[in-house]
Amino acid sequence: MGVRFYLSCALVVLACSMAQERGQPGHRGVLPNQKESVERQSFSMVIDSCRYPNSASARQAWTPGVPSPPVQAARDGLILPCPFAQKVERFAWDRQFSSDLSSYDSFSVKLQVGNPSAVSYFTLYFGSGEGWYGASFRAGASGSVLLSRSSFVSEGRPSGWNRVDRIRFSVWKGADVDTQVKLNEISAVSSPVVVLRGDSMLPSGHPEADSASAAARRVEGMLSRLGVRFGAVSGEDVMSGVLAGKKVLVIPYSPQMPDQVAEQIAQFASSGGRILAFYSLHSKLAPVLGIEYVKHLPREYEGQFASIRFTGEPVKGAPREVGQRSWNISLVRPSAAKVLAEWYDAAGKPTGYPAVTEGAGGVYMSHILLDDDPDRKALMLLALLGRLWPDAWRQAARSSVAHIGCVLPGLKGYKEAAAQVRAFARQSGRPLPSKDLQAAERYRRLALLNLRNRRYPEALALAGEANKSMSLAMLRAVPSRRGEFRGVWCHSAFGVEGWDWERSCRVLAENGFTDVLPNMLWGGIAYYRSAVLPVHPSVSERGDQIEACVKAAHKYGLKVHVWKVNWNLAGAPPEFVRELRAQGRTQVARDGSPVDWLCPSHPENRKLERDSMLEVVRNYPVDGIHFDYIRYPDGRSCFCEGCRERFQQQCGVRVAKWPDDVISGPFAETFAQWRRDQITRLVEEVSREAKRIRPGILVSAAVFGDYPACRDYVGQDWLIWVQKGLLDFVCPMDYTPDRSVFEGMVRRQLELVGGQIPVYPGIGASWPEVLLPLQVADQILAARRCGAKGFMVFNYDTNLAQAVLPMLHLGATRER
Ligand SMILES: [Zn+2]
Repeated sequence: MGVRFYLSCALVVLACSMAQERGQPGHRGVLPNQKESVERQSFSMVIDSCRYPNSASARQAWTPGVPSPPVQAARDGLILPCPFAQKVERFAWDRQFSSDLSSYDSFSVKLQVGNPSAVSYFTLYFGSGEGWYGASFRAGASGSVLLSRSSFVSEGRPSGWNRVDRIRFSVWKGADVDTQVKLNEISAVSSPVVVLRGDSMLPSGHPEADSASAAARRVEGMLSRLGVRFGAVSGEDVMSGVLAGKKVLVIPYSPQMPDQVAEQIAQFASSGGRILAFYSLHSKLAPVLGIEYVKHLPREYEGQFASIRFTGEPVKGAPREVGQRSWNISLVRPSAAKVLAEWYDAAGKPTGYPAVTEGAGGVYMSHILLDDDPDRKALMLLALLGRLWPDAWRQAARSSVAHIGCVLPGLKGYKEAAAQVRAFARQSGRPLPSKDLQAAERYRRLALLNLRNRRYPEALALAGEANKSMSLAMLRAVPSRRGEFRGVWCHSAFGVEGWDWERSCRVLAENGFTDVLPNMLWGGIAYYRSAVLPVHPSVSERGDQIEACVKAAHKYGLKVHVWKVNWNLAGAPPEFVRELRAQGRTQVARDGSPVDWLCPSHPENRKLERDSMLEVVRNYPVDGIHFDYIRYPDGRSCFCEGCRERFQQQCGVRVAKWPDDVISGPFAETFAQWRRDQITRLVEEVSREAKRIRPGILVSAAVFGDYPACRDYVGQDWLIWVQKGLLDFVCPMDYTPDRSVFEGMVRRQLELVGGQIPVYPGIGASWPEVLLPLQVADQILAARRCGAKGFMVFNYDTNLAQAVLPMLHLGATRER
């Protein structure tokens, strides 16, 4: 059957990620969307079924922490009353529970929430000895959340997952509104496949930490979309026995692995477990996979590593070729392994370097999995996994066939999806897209037939085709709305890669967009003729980019809001940064390490930021100016000597112990406010002056979605900016693949802002994962439902320009 494979992308809402990795202080995010396959291959244990015969017995099990009210029993769950109208930040309940949870890789929580906006997030804790393991998550009105082991953070001194002795469930306030939460079930899950998070084994601040975590998230996202159940675990989890009974350990990228962890993994392989490892490999694991590491090999010419071709023995279900533009690989020599695939260059020539090898202990790929060619990439992952654990195919095929029609969250199957298309078509007054609906039905029948005949790769591909047709039908049917604000952030100062601003703007306008926010300046670099900041050398070759963008945008009726990445010195000339650092103008983290961001309290820095934004306002006919990174990088800075002096002087205090006294000591509150004021002052100065220079100019900002938490950890008090009249619109970065999480955030933000200015929520179309066109359309509809008068999309790149915008234009952005 078909040559083209499309993966089905069921969007069954299960787990919800915290807004962003940044998350809440002290809590890491949880798994991105993971979908439940129809059949549970995994082994699970119910920790609490939440069914109690009466409230008295429920109260015997669950004890409220002060000042939480007692629990109540209901027919289908355990009711946790949350009277948040009282001034209480969280409610919590505990119960005794003794168990060895060391071999469980995930925990599932099923719950219903009366009023989701009353709750900011939940935390599930397991107590062990003198400490806790806790994982925080968000949830919509109802659903099931899967928390992976790696998302649990230790507090205090827990004595190990094998000695869990109690559970705590906490509900954190989102708004001063009473609500109740109904817990339906808590269970522990042991999956056949586990993903090892490479970042969990790195010391804090390791330069590869972000890449390791991104590589793991990418693999996890692919497995979720494939419908393969998995758990995500840390190096510590491996040490504490989580590999017991598992089939495959996936190592997406582990730049540095402790010897003991590698020994445990080798042990796992010698007792029948298999490994699927990418790129970096501990020296103890190379022989397990039958390879010898030769060297790190940066590409020797542009386009040397352009694709992976399966040239060895046939690998069931693997695409013949998968695009992947790697900039380097690990060069390995097979000693007791077969080469399954080889690297090919952009001209289609073999490089002779192994891309994928297979030895007794498992499969190895010589670079991490990148984002490009996502469909075939995921299929390759499944094929490699299927080689190590053939059941992966059955799991993926059954799941994808069962999820035909589940192209939007909440849709339970094919019939509901077709009904939804009809409902959309009625709303928008457009003809029913019958051809697409018929195609979907045809593919669905074929998929079912192939599944029955155990032709799993074929069934999977056909299910993908069915969903593709159904998605297309839906994209054609969804309503548009005239007069709304439709903007994109464009991180490149040159527009879409390979295009100029003329084409980038034309395509935006043709697809119904109204505003463009190009990133033209940073803390230490400008992509226009700046008299204030170092100018990027490309400007002399390719011209002034603001000029080019404004000219093209205005030609096509788009408004331009020039976007500045404030404070952050990424991309600035090294000598410029060195000089600033020598002058004490860059930030210093809590542990004394340098941070290449301008220190906001330094008057010269504020001047540099202000003058650069104002020269844009003065020199170009821009429609707006846009703040981003208008905050501190995180909760760990800035504690430079200058901040110390200026804080003491401006607040009239003497700090004996710096920085302890301003972090949690006597001056914590004063310092937190002073820190926020440093950021607010810049917004105020720029906003007032910009409006004087160019009356009618629109001032806006990209801000964190989790207000008010962001006031504290990054010093971003954006609601104050709204109240002071400094902004004309605000764009919270509500980047999540989960619609209910998105909708919850947008609703809260609109409530907070209370109509003082428009809120244009930011949809993360390319981050933290790449969304499908229908997912983007769905979030646009969600923003409209909440009452937003427009939206922003991040980021205007090739995929958005070519794959997403034309699909939105079929329906959601059809009329301007
Ligand atoms: Zn400072």
